[in-house]
Amino acid sequence: MILFELKCTNGHHFEAWFRDGGAFDRQAKGGKVECPVCLDTSVVKAPMAPAVSTSSRKNSNKQQGEHRAKEVAREIIKAVSKIQKHVEENCDYVGDKFAEEAKAIHYGEAEERKIYGEATDQEAVELFEEDIPVYKVPWNQRRDS
Ligand SMILES: [Zn+2]
Repeated sequence: MILFELKCTNGHHFEAWFRDGGAFDRQAKGGKVECPVCLDTSVVKAPMAPAVSTSSRKNSNKQQGEHRAKEVAREIIKAVSKIQKHVEENCDYVGDKFAEEAKAIHYGEAEERKIYGEATDQEAVELFEEDIPVYKVPWNQRRDS
């Protein structure tokens, strides 16, 4: 596995793991590598940040820890935007009528389809109790929506 630092045409930097260098080239050519920020698929390898060696061991461990934390945060953002995109493309948005609509679909009173929207924790518990499948996903609030 190789970690590549990547860059989209809008200048967003992000990192992704690939099996090898060839795997990146194939996926990038096929438009399968997308920027987690703007979903741009024109992605190129960015030059790796140079490794810095410091004389203090403690200091470098701390930097590694911070780097790791940033990496994890980026992975989460990436995963969230993937889930979100999938949901937006495949489900109907029903806003705060989610619980109502989920019940109507479950009991055959509304057209069978996948929906998404906002539900309170209390509503989600009620749906669980009625055996209605509900998934809670992390969500990025986008300014353009
Ligand atoms: Zn981008």
